[in-house]
Amino acid sequence: MQPTRTDILISGGGVAGLSAAAAFGTAGFDVVVVDPAPPVTEGDAADADLRTTAFLQPSRDVLARAGLWERLAPFAAPLQVMQIIDAGGPEPVARVQKAFDAEDISDEPFGWNLQNWLLRREMLARVTELPNVDFRAGIGTADVLTRATEARVRLTDGSMVSAQLLIAADGRNSPVREALGIDVQTTRYGQKALAFAVTHPLPHDSVSTEIHRSGGPFTLVPLPDLDGQPRSAIVWMERGPEAQRLAALPVPEFEAEMNARSTGLLGHLTLVSRRSVWPIISQIAERFSGERTALMAEAAHVVPPIGAQGLNMSLADLRLLLDLAEANRDALGSPEMLAQYHRKRYPDVRTRIAGIDMLNRASMAAAQPLRDARAQGLKALYGLAPVRKSLMQLGLGVR
Ligand SMILES: Cc1cc2nc3c(=O)[nH]c(=O)nc-3n(C[C@H](O)[C@H](O)[C@H](O)COP(=O)(O)OP(=O)(O)OC[C@H]3O[C@@H](n4cnc5c(N)ncnc54)[C@H](O)[C@@H]3O)c2cc1C
Repeated sequence: MQPTRTDILISGGGVAGLSAAAAFGTAGFDVVVVDPAPPVTEGDAADADLRTTAFLQPSRDVLARAGLWERLAPFAAPLQVMQIIDAGGPEPVARVQKAFDAEDISDEPFGWNLQNWLLRREMLARVTELPNVDFRAGIGTADVLTRATEARVRLTDGSMVSAQLLIAADGRNSPVREALGIDVQTTRYGQKALAFAVTHPLPHDSVSTEIHRSGGPFTLVPLPDLDGQPRSAIVWMERGPEAQRLAALPVPEFEAEMNARSTGLLGHLTLVSRRSVWPIISQIAERFSGERTALMAEAAHVVPPIGAQGLNMSLADLRLLLDLAEANRDALGSPEMLAQYHRKRYPDVRTRIAGIDMLNRASMAAAQPLRDARAQGLKALYGLAPVRKSLMQLGLGVR
């Protein structure tokens, strides 16, 4: 059977793969994207992804280049202030509370929060309207063979695709990465994250808050109102067994525990979604490229959900790949393009992973002296205005 010839084959149609398909399709490249799991695009479906993603400013621009932002903007909740609370004293009450306001560094919000199932719905609609994007849902990558001139991929339905550039966006256990023999370095924290949504009587006022006590952060991120009630998404990180215990509690007991953990910040929280549980690791691939292949998103790097970095790092991968591809279309997938990609992305990702690892370990601290040191550290960093501004710019990915 003759292979389908295409400019780009994207292995993986998660949020990162679909963003890449929309971006390269919009830029005029021929794209085939494959995923064995068709995207779930209804919020109340049993297997819907109930997480939300806070897209930071630079990511909004990539989404706009992909023709996605105008579709997503009506559903986005702006994040104007990022607040950090230390509740690590003997009692679970806020003892240090510091707010970082986007106004100090920009005339726009830090970012915008969107529900993941809704992202998939809008991204699927966008790739479907692009005639040069061929999305094959229900079909995955089976085998990869690369040579100097092409990546030749056999799909799970037995068909073949020959691409100038193969993009691996097929997740933390990336089959493409494994086929290329690219190793990963993984850190396990013995931690899990619970993700769910709540309503509350007090407005969130576009403030996202991380509350640190022990076990990991408890993060509230604004969502648009639900039936006139203020609503937030919560990611609650704890050691694995504790997270499993919380996930299995009857709703009234769970609500009592989450209300205690929230320090009462937004008034009484009411659970309005399922609770989903996510394993937490850090991981980095030893190289972000191979012959005719670029690794992006979780195929290249995984971080704990702190500071909204995960998918934002993935969209930074996409921005660079798109810039390099558009700058020299004839060199798509060439060794020079891929070497540049690795050289420019790898150090930034490594630094961010190290920073998030440090923040996560500080947030997990159980011993009182460590928790006290963390509270002092927050006060000290916040007190120095230039440091505070630099941290905000670093977090956004604009420096
Ligand atoms: C609780 C939580 C909260 C988070 N919050 C944020 C946030 O606020 N901001 C942020 O930036 N990030 C956040 N993240 C991170 C973000 O959710 C992830 O980075 C993102 O979902 C990963 O997307 P991905 O497309 O790389 O991987 P995945 O979503 O895992 O997609 C990989 C895809 O590859 C497919 N696949 C598997 N095998 C094959 C194959 N053989 N062939 C083809 N395809 C295949 C899979 O079916 C899947 O659809 C959060 C993460 C967690 C756990």
